[in-house]
Amino acid sequence: NRALFQNISKDVWSLTNEAAAVASQNAQNQNRELINLGQGFFSYSPPEFAIQEAQKALTSPLVNQYAPTKGRPSLIKSLLKLYSPLYGKQLAPENVQVTTGANEGILSCLVGLLNPGDEVIVFEPFFDQYISNIQIPGGKVTYVPLHPPKEISERPTQGTEWRVDYDELRRAVTSKTKALIINSPHNPVGKVFTREELLEIGQICVDNNIIIISDEVYENLYFTPEFTRIATLTPEIGQLTLTVGSAGKTFAATGWRVGWIVSLNPDLLKYASMAHTRICFSTPSPLQEACANALEIAVENGYFEDMRQEYIRKFNIFTKVFDDLGLPYTKPEGTYFVVADFSKVKIPHDYPFPEELQSKAKDFRISYWLINELGVVAIPPTEFYIPEHEKVAENLLRFAVCKSDEYLQNAVERLKLLK
Ligand code: GLN
Repeated sequence: NRALFQNISKDVWSLTNEAAAVASQNAQNQNRELINLGQGFFSYSPPEFAIQEAQKALTSPLVNQYAPTKGRPSLIKSLLKLYSPLYGKQLAPENVQVTTGANEGILSCLVGLLNPGDEVIVFEPFFDQYISNIQIPGGKVTYVPLHPPKEISERPTQGTEWRVDYDELRRAVTSKTKALIINSPHNPVGKVFTREELLEIGQICVDNNIIIISDEVYENLYFTPEFTRIATLTPEIGQLTLTVGSAGKTFAATGWRVGWIVSLNPDLLKYASMAHTRICFSTPSPLQEACANALEIAVENGYFEDMRQEYIRKFNIFTKVFDDLGLPYTKPEGTYFVVADFSKVKIPHDYPFPEELQSKAKDFRISYWLINELGVVAIPPTEFYIPEHEKVAENLLRFAVCKSDEYLQNAVERLKLLK
């Protein structure tokens, strides 16, 4: 395992945040606040009702003790209330498992279900944590590309234009393929997979008895007319699917680390539950209690719909600068990320890049340059590719818009200087 972790010793989130911290010491940045649109964390607080629920929970003595490994009954109840209508069926406690963030949920699915040598298909670009989560229990990753539109460097494109080639997907399946991870809405390209696409992918999984791990952490952030949950498409697909969700994205509380797994198949879910118990035993109890009550309130007060409208506004504030600069970007259908193409931006070749960036893909240098010159942090997306495919993304940067309007406006003012 030392080799495994040495290979991936520095995660892109710490790398960019640390580069930002160092850059804030340089002369230019000393007089201005650094604008961090890198890691997807919020610049503002969770909604008042969620904070109040957390405060209440922290002052109830028993709520501060171990939660049951399965999750607090109150949160399980709220999740059942939330998801039963969305799944078109009354779900039972055996259909849900609370996890310590969605990442631990995905890890628990994989640890619970994989044998060493089993293969797991992921679409590329992928969220980086999937890879180590697959490798920790000895799994092997099979990469299937999500093909970007050809004109990605020429015009604004849509997430939906990033496509799966189903023949390529079928060819990636071997007798060792145990699972497939799909992420919709998709980080980083903002694609919301359509019903038709999910049916095709789901059917390939059914034909080959492949478990589907559906990462739906951005489920409340879609700007398309509908959002389809793969688990709900056919009973056969539902029986193979474990769906992972997150309170962090919904309540602007990524540090709370409250997530969950929902599955129509308790016989599959129970292995993830057992792994979860052994990995972390249980999830912070007061924050579960806060999420339980906040979810109930959110369902009643229209919070989810308001949030979608708010993000549409945020994207409009932010992407205008790319329109003005003539830099193409992927118009988001979901998530709080936007991917922009920097091919047209001239970065000096003789810029004093640190030694360790020389061996990295070009987007790492663009990101470094942007942090140092404009004080704006963005994520280099080749981190979500294997080295052989980095070329696809070497001119792209990912920006997170989960920030206040004022913060985004400041970012726009800075980026205007690229003109
Ligand atoms: N999901 C977050 C993002 O893509 C990062 C989570 C993490 O830092 N592990 O920005």
